[in-house]
Amino acid sequence: MSVRVVARVRPLLKHELDKDTIVTASNPGHDDDASPTIVRIPNPKNDAELYSFQFNSVYDQAATQQTIFDNEVSPTVKHLFNGFDVTLFAYGVTGTGKTHTMRGGKTLAERGVIPRLLSSIYRRCRKIEKDTAGGTDVEVSMSYYEIYNDRVYDLFEPPEKRTPSGLPIRDNNGKTVVVGLTERPCYTLKEFEKLYDEANVNRSTSATKLNAHSSRSHAILCVKVTQTSQDHTLVSTASAIDLAGSEDNRRTDNNRDRLVESASINKSLFVLAQCVEAISRKQSRIPYRESKMTRILSLGQNNGLTIMILNLAPVRSYHLDTLSSLNFANRTK
Ligand code: ADP
Ligand code: MG
Repeated sequence: MSVRVVARVRPLLKHELDKDTIVTASNPGHDDDASPTIVRIPNPKNDAELYSFQFNSVYDQAATQQTIFDNEVSPTVKHLFNGFDVTLFAYGVTGTGKTHTMRGGKTLAERGVIPRLLSSIYRRCRKIEKDTAGGTDVEVSMSYYEIYNDRVYDLFEPPEKRTPSGLPIRDNNGKTVVVGLTERPCYTLKEFEKLYDEANVNRSTSATKLNAHSSRSHAILCVKVTQTSQDHTLVSTASAIDLAGSEDNRRTDNNRDRLVESASINKSLFVLAQCVEAISRKQSRIPYRESKMTRILSLGQNNGLTIMILNLAPVRSYHLDTLSSLNFANRTK
């Protein structure tokens, strides 16, 4: 079981070009290289005093989608095919690049880690089928849901068809399952992309209806890989989670609904941090049952790999939230 925490500082956006950059990444790349990989940010009360945070890797605005995938995610594919779970989180304030990192843009170069991971999974499937002359059959299926105010909603269901209370979860032979969650087989990358886009429409539709709801829900994609040969079956899951924005809404918004949302986001992110910390410290007790998300993911239960990508904005308007993101990630080491 292992965890990597990776920081990615996004570039300035068009409307930020005149703003000063206060967050810097030094020695972008891996910590396997000789120099420490560090993010620096000033003390909000004294610009001259810099705080430093060290991570397994750090990336600055120059890092492409391809670089992030090649360095951080591509190496996990062999573990997945060896039967271990792989879990990727994008953590950060709204507007720092979580969705960009995970899903990405429309062009090939802008594709995020999710489509790249799937592309890599299918390439491996074809190779295994070829190498074993058809003796091993590999099937890929996906489910995609969001957790909002601690309720689970299937993203294959259009928002108007959802039961407001969400889908129930139940323990089944020691595994937690979401009852009634759609699981779709996808035989090719094309099929995956079609289903993924279809489900993402349900996410953004609800965003306009429910007041930017998408920044307040966790979107969880699970890709199940089942390898069947004559004598046995190996099942493993790659999960990619675009987390709810970690901003402190109490500072900016006193609306009652926002406060309820914030309380549930804070709790799930807090439990997530505790789980990641327990995994990275190789503790035997991981409190994954204490939030719905970590419980459904069985986080840390399958000898798997967890990667937390910490998305950061470089500008001063995010100062306090950036500092709390860095402190959050720091606790998980
Ligand atoms: P979040 O999902 O964390 O709210 P987004 O992924 O929507 O943030 O990113 C906010 C904006 O910043 C988007 O317009 C996105 O295209 C842009 N952006 C984020 N990261 C990058 C990056 N590495 N390179 C270029 N643009 C980026
Ligand atoms: Mg987003």
